[in-house]
Amino acid sequence: MLVLVINSGSSSLKYQVRDTAGGEELTSGLVERIGDTAGGHPADHQEAIDRVFADLEEELGGRGIDAVGHRVVHGGERFAEPVLIDFEITRAIERLSPLAPLHNPAAVAGIRAIQGRWPKTPQVAVFDTAFHRTIPEHAWRYAVPDALYKEQGVRRYGFHGTSHDFVTGRAAGLLGIERERFRAVVAHLGNGASVTAVRGGRSVDTSMGYTPLEGLVMGTRSGDLDPSIITQLIMRGEYTAEDLDRILNQDSGLKGLAGTNDMRAVVEAAAAGDDAAELALAVAAYRLQKYIGGYHVAVGGAQAIVFTAGIGENSWQFRLRVAEGLGALGVALDPMANLARSREPRIISAPDSAIPVLVVPTDEEAEIARATAELAGRADG
Ligand code: AMP
Repeated sequence: MLVLVINSGSSSLKYQVRDTAGGEELTSGLVERIGDTAGGHPADHQEAIDRVFADLEEELGGRGIDAVGHRVVHGGERFAEPVLIDFEITRAIERLSPLAPLHNPAAVAGIRAIQGRWPKTPQVAVFDTAFHRTIPEHAWRYAVPDALYKEQGVRRYGFHGTSHDFVTGRAAGLLGIERERFRAVVAHLGNGASVTAVRGGRSVDTSMGYTPLEGLVMGTRSGDLDPSIITQLIMRGEYTAEDLDRILNQDSGLKGLAGTNDMRAVVEAAAAGDDAAELALAVAAYRLQKYIGGYHVAVGGAQAIVFTAGIGENSWQFRLRVAEGLGALGVALDPMANLARSREPRIISAPDSAIPVLVVPTDEEAEIARATAELAGRADG
């Protein structure tokens, strides 16, 4: 089955075509700066999709798309798994927009554009939040008045679920442990970063919360901080809510501490003696170590610590730094295995490490394509 995977951001649209029979990627592309018509870019998502159609016609030489899978950031409390999209589902995704104001409207625009062009092609929504719907209430509740939850939806949702789910399955397979019995701590470390506690193969806690701002130190996001920082700065009249939203999401994290959100540049600068870069690495590694320790307890003793995404898969320096702080858990890396480069899932811990440490490359598009083919196939049959 030929599946078109669409990831609509607020001003960009990434796409990939996968043949789910063999799993290979046939073509992919990126439409950028949607809304920036001055630069000749598409005016809206409908126009962006039109460009994708034009590209596909050229690249696929007449082979038709059988189904479309959309990455949807927010599925709220309703969606615990991928769903076949219809009118009502599209509206439900739209109604969740207050929880993901930049992302859900973009996904809806993409869904409608496809519906307009290919009304008969099945479309599937795969939610970033869905994997975390198994988190127990004591972990997803914030200790705030009930009205904030009931009236405003203030609770922990968690994100990167498609990646955490995919990587959990791969890691269990690599270790030969049945997924239903698998306990692990999975660290997705990309430009956005989150860590998930996995018990019985399911998410039981995760570091991102109401929004993707909470938790780890990220490329440009602060992760955890004292909420009073925000209220105090606003009450003192020093900053507006909009200023702080921008600062904490776009100017913080590695970028705030070291001046760049590119982990390669931070690692290189630290090695060259840059104190700010060294501090950024120390703060980021320490934050992750605290989460790993906490989640080791949450899962009842992890059988694996798993690294994935851009930094987790590629930065042996950052993995080493994190692992060095996990001595109390009996974790020890095999230095050569940690250095080795590969696209394959692999174990990088020493044979006598109390907990195996793994690197498992993530592939969100493959997982979205797989889920899409499964649901579209069911709808057909
Ligand atoms: P992602 O969001 O998963 O694409 O990850 C992006 C992050 O991965 C950026 O911070 C990159 O600097 C980082 N990254 C990619 N390749 C490497 C590498 N070889 N070494 C260190 N960091 C890397």
